[in-house]
Amino acid sequence: QPELWSDDFNDFICKCLIKDFELRPNVLDLLQHVFIKQIVGREKTLQKQLIELIDLSQQIGVIEKTRHERIHTKKGSHMKTQCDTDEVDDLATLELLDEDSVTEQLQNRYMTDQIYTYVGDILIAVNPFHKMDIYTPQYNQLYLGAKRTANPPHIFAVADVAYQSLVSYNADQCIVISGESGAGKTESAHLLVQQLTVLGKANNRSLQEKILLVNSLVEAFGNACTAINDNSSRFGKYLEMKYTCGGTVVGAQISEYLLEKSRVIHQATGEKNFHIFYYMYAGLADRKKLAHYKLSDSKTPKYLCNEYIKLVPDIVSNSFYKEQFETVEQCFKVIGFSLEELGSVYSTLAAILSSGDIEFSPVATEHQTDKSHITNNCILENVASLLCIRSDELQEALTSHCVVARGETIVRPNTVEKAVEVRDAMGKALYGRLFSWIVNRINSLLQPDEDEKGYHIGILDIFGFENFKKNSFEQLCINIANEQIQFYFNQHIFAWEQDEYLNEDVDARMIEYEDNRPLLDLFLQKPMGMLSLLDEESRFPQATDQTLVEKFEDNLKAKSFWRPKRVDLGFGIHHYAGKVIYNAGGFLSKNRETLPADIILLLRSSENELIRKLVTHPLTKTGHTNTLSESNSSASGDPGDTPSHPRETTNMKTQTVASYFRYSLMDLLSKMVAGQPHFVRCIKPNNDRHAQKFDREKVLVQLRYTGLLETAKIRRQGYSHRILFANFIKRYYILAFPAHEEPEATPESCAVILEKAKLENWAMGKTKVFLKYYHVEHLNLMVQQAT
Ligand code: ADP
Ligand code: MG
Repeated sequence: QPELWSDDFNDFICKCLIKDFELRPNVLDLLQHVFIKQIVGREKTLQKQLIELIDLSQQIGVIEKTRHERIHTKKGSHMKTQCDTDEVDDLATLELLDEDSVTEQLQNRYMTDQIYTYVGDILIAVNPFHKMDIYTPQYNQLYLGAKRTANPPHIFAVADVAYQSLVSYNADQCIVISGESGAGKTESAHLLVQQLTVLGKANNRSLQEKILLVNSLVEAFGNACTAINDNSSRFGKYLEMKYTCGGTVVGAQISEYLLEKSRVIHQATGEKNFHIFYYMYAGLADRKKLAHYKLSDSKTPKYLCNEYIKLVPDIVSNSFYKEQFETVEQCFKVIGFSLEELGSVYSTLAAILSSGDIEFSPVATEHQTDKSHITNNCILENVASLLCIRSDELQEALTSHCVVARGETIVRPNTVEKAVEVRDAMGKALYGRLFSWIVNRINSLLQPDEDEKGYHIGILDIFGFENFKKNSFEQLCINIANEQIQFYFNQHIFAWEQDEYLNEDVDARMIEYEDNRPLLDLFLQKPMGMLSLLDEESRFPQATDQTLVEKFEDNLKAKSFWRPKRVDLGFGIHHYAGKVIYNAGGFLSKNRETLPADIILLLRSSENELIRKLVTHPLTKTGHTNTLSESNSSASGDPGDTPSHPRETTNMKTQTVASYFRYSLMDLLSKMVAGQPHFVRCIKPNNDRHAQKFDREKVLVQLRYTGLLETAKIRRQGYSHRILFANFIKRYYILAFPAHEEPEATPESCAVILEKAKLENWAMGKTKVFLKYYHVEHLNLMVQQAT
């Protein structure tokens, strides 16, 4: 088609795309070759050669009609084709940038199954809620080292950009995926890993296979069915893919954040426990192994029982669960866990399930009315045998506790309420520690050799923003984490960029954006932030959840905090993503989350090596042992922290869930800030999980709170890449100077290169070159061709 001809290769490719031709990579190579050989001005010859080439290609079937036509024929004629709308792959290039046009674009694209759209260098992914055929090996290949405009927007392209930056700049990269629960973050993370392993061309197939299985394994333990997502991540995950300097993948490492352990003992209406419990139950039943793990084939364990959950026969006959169990076991084996370790994992899980069924009742004697005893000893025996500990000692540790007062150890009985609390704390702690152990074991199995160390690409997939009918401490933590990620996004996209314009005297129009800093201060500031207040209140034995909300009310003076009328224990927060009403019921106990020393000591005596490891070894370098605040009756901690009542010494230590949470958030942030960031914004198009349903209002709300419109504006007007003169020269001088003559790092030399590359709209600062994201792509491609 004559109107496609151009003497610029990239321009030609763009036109081909617009005109509905999708060019396979091998054809692209050929074409590029032809272009390079051409001397400008000889269009006629060029044209002839191309016609021949395209003819030939079509004959051998290497040029396909694009996605549009395919979709068009597949889905019927009511679909719009590209010709009758003005669709753009990059919202930053829209003529008119307002809420309506942006939503319209996303909707039109979504309805034709184009779920991905760029906003400059940021990728928007709208959840398709159905299986797409765009993740096959052909697509992996299509996006390898390709110029971004050569292909439709895709999550694989983000992997490619991160990878190319790692190799070109020898720097760590970080891909931040955000979006509300069910928006598609975890799926996106999987797809990134898929493409990043292909890019990293592992020499060793088995390593590639192992890395791909890591997600499935940790998700079996860390994900669960919630009211809004059947596979909801109940922990934050930062997966680092490790590469050599040359870009070969050599290992992986996961960090996990804030597993929602309370789910082990209790699930909200319509929700389930962690997947693994159901998988294991069905899998073991299938192998006739339930009795071996002391699990009943008729009575549902209490921890799995809620008004929605079916009976054990329903669980054990579920073929999906059985398959998943086989998959999980396969993952364990491929990654390198031993059979013995697997057996111990199952015993621990079974012990947790059975422990939930231990029941207590009060012992009423003349002197003591607050004593409890266990009413179903057979269950106690089962749990003790699974944990390889003595049942009489377990009984004692559950129904009483030791206190050290003035050097003497005194045994005090536990009330029924207290015994139940200890039992549940044990279940939660064991699960949390088992999860951390699995993660650490994976890390040691996938660790690169010392001499292979280079750089990494981190992928952050945290639990999304949540707003349920009832929101508790877990939702507060999740939402604060999201608030922090949003803050990081803002800093990166708006604040730091605009600061640099000022510092470097670059003329650029400032873009207004919603700064959520005051909210972060409300939560994290010391000593008057919400988490600090919570910690302070947790130290008072007499405090209640009621006194806690009152403390919040008295001390938190931000507009975004309020106390709703007529809601007991209620308080409201206006998050960046919307208003949430929390219920402070249970906040104090959830924050204290103590496991009595008696239980820890008992578990340390277990004859099972894994159980002993769970309670003795420091689990991660991030000090993970602290997730479970070990109380120590000898009160060996900081003397300033020793409360006056000896009884309290047993159950109190400074580390609370809130302080651990704050710590992990900072740890996470430091990891993110250390790498060059790439952002993927997941959007949930409707609440019903329906394919082809685009709820404009719902999308608009998400666009607003994530500041996507402002992002598009700054990407259009701003300069997302600011490169120091010296670095710029080092990387690109080859485009304008002889290879052996690296020029001095002056603005003049930089300008020579930019002019030679025929780039426009860049700006020169005092120490840096200011470039748009597409400039960098163009330059990198030119370097690739030149070398
Ligand atoms: P999040 O992690 O943001 O809570 P998930 O990644 O678990 O959300 O996605 C929720 C569900 O949406 C998935 O279980 C899957 O059914 C669907 N989904 C998300 N992304 C895709 C995709 N790219 N292709 C097909 N289905 C998807
Ligand atoms: Mg998820």
